[in-house]
Amino acid sequence: MTQPTTYQNYINGTFESAREHLEVYNPATQALLSRVPESGAEDVERALAAARAAQKGWAARPAVERATFLHRLADKLRDNVARLARVITEEQGKVTGLAETEVNFTADYLDYMAEWGRRIEGEIIESDRPDESIFLFRKPLGVVAGILPWNFPFFLIARKMAPALVTGNTIVIKPSEETPNNCFEFARLVDALELPPGVFNVVSGSGATTGSALTASPDVDMISFTGSVATGSRIMASAANNITKLNLELGGKAPAIVMDDADLDLAVNAIRGSRIINSGQVCNCAERVYVQRGVADEFVARMAKAMDATRYGDPLAQPDVEMGPLINRAGLDKVARMVEVAQGEGAELITGGRIADLGSGFHYRPTVLAGCRQEMAIMRQEIFGPVLPVQIVDDLDEAIALANDSEYGLTSSVYTRSLKHAMQACRGLDFGETYVNRENFEAMQGFHAGVRRSGIGGADGKHGLYEYTHSHVVYLET
Ligand code: NAD
Repeated sequence: MTQPTTYQNYINGTFESAREHLEVYNPATQALLSRVPESGAEDVERALAAARAAQKGWAARPAVERATFLHRLADKLRDNVARLARVITEEQGKVTGLAETEVNFTADYLDYMAEWGRRIEGEIIESDRPDESIFLFRKPLGVVAGILPWNFPFFLIARKMAPALVTGNTIVIKPSEETPNNCFEFARLVDALELPPGVFNVVSGSGATTGSALTASPDVDMISFTGSVATGSRIMASAANNITKLNLELGGKAPAIVMDDADLDLAVNAIRGSRIINSGQVCNCAERVYVQRGVADEFVARMAKAMDATRYGDPLAQPDVEMGPLINRAGLDKVARMVEVAQGEGAELITGGRIADLGSGFHYRPTVLAGCRQEMAIMRQEIFGPVLPVQIVDDLDEAIALANDSEYGLTSSVYTRSLKHAMQACRGLDFGETYVNRENFEAMQGFHAGVRRSGIGGADGKHGLYEYTHSHVVYLET
């Protein structure tokens, strides 16, 4: 058996130990993988001070020069795909193919954001005065704190650091305490680039200790957070003391609307894929289905068959599985409890509905619940597991109204062959994203942002890039 790795924080271009440690386990085998720093306030302050000291010099370089570091890092990631994917799978539980996709997508994302180095633009604005020019510059905010969840832990490092760095900010990343190992491996690759010390820093630890030290610090100019609504709300309260700028990417409860005129093969395939990918632990994937009455029975029957056929297990021991374990015991128990409560409220269990005993690991059987109603918790709260609740609707107006009736507003999808229905859904759905006749995944050049409690601001593309800047308007009278 391999010995657990001991990781160190990455502060000011140096790996350094912390006084306290946390342990990280494999969710499929429960084997101890590593010990990582439980960083205290002094560690956090040192990382922030390093980021502050480096920021002006970093911002003074041309953006295209800053971008070269991101391109070089992308190359390093591509040279290490299999090794990095294994680290991700070991601590997070996703299947190897998806972990490899995550590493490759992260490399592409670094390249994509680096390309903005030559495209960041200000504005020249018409003046009211005869001899005046008005210029709008875009400037970096300063020091960014990036706080990450565990579900796409590797990609989310880049989703925060790439736009931050190319626009001239420096960053301190805090990975999730569930999945910090991949972030330290990322830091090792950054270290080999000879990036100026302090531009990129990593401090690991729990939310209560390390996360709250970061968000309470007056030395942070922007908190870029991805995680749950509950934590986002706590972070907002903490940021309020210093009026720190916030970018919050929070939870989702994505509705999938399936119309009578849908291509059912496509709908079943896409929705099922969306529910089992990463064991259902994805913010933007189908969490509830509204199916039109005419195809409801057939949809449920086909979906149950497809979910039932899912191969699951330990992804490193059985490379052909389609789904790994859930992240931890608490996640597994929550999913099991939600399914029990739904059945108590009258939902009909079509398939699955229980914890899968594979000897070790946090596995839940792919599950379909029919006869769900809007008021049930399973239709309102984030499940974050391979469980699909289905409710019947009579028409598209009803489906849209039920879809919008949610505290979440991240993504949504609709399956129909009718352009009229598709456009009606796009006009009526109040969400940050809608997918028509395809699975729920965003493009790096789009803009991933939620409404209602799903967040504030967004990520990706031009709009995501400019979140890491502030405007500076200059009135020049000559
Ligand atoms: P979480 O909120 O439990 O934790 C996220 C991060 O916040 C962790 O690093 C944690 O240590 C830290 N944290 C916890 N308490 C904190 C505090 N008081 N102060 C500062 N930091 C604190 O979320 P999670 O369980 O890691 O991730 C799952 C959630 O993330 C789901 O709700 C999912 O929908 C959401 N998510 C959203 C997106 C998106 O793009 N909108 C993407 C991925 C995940």
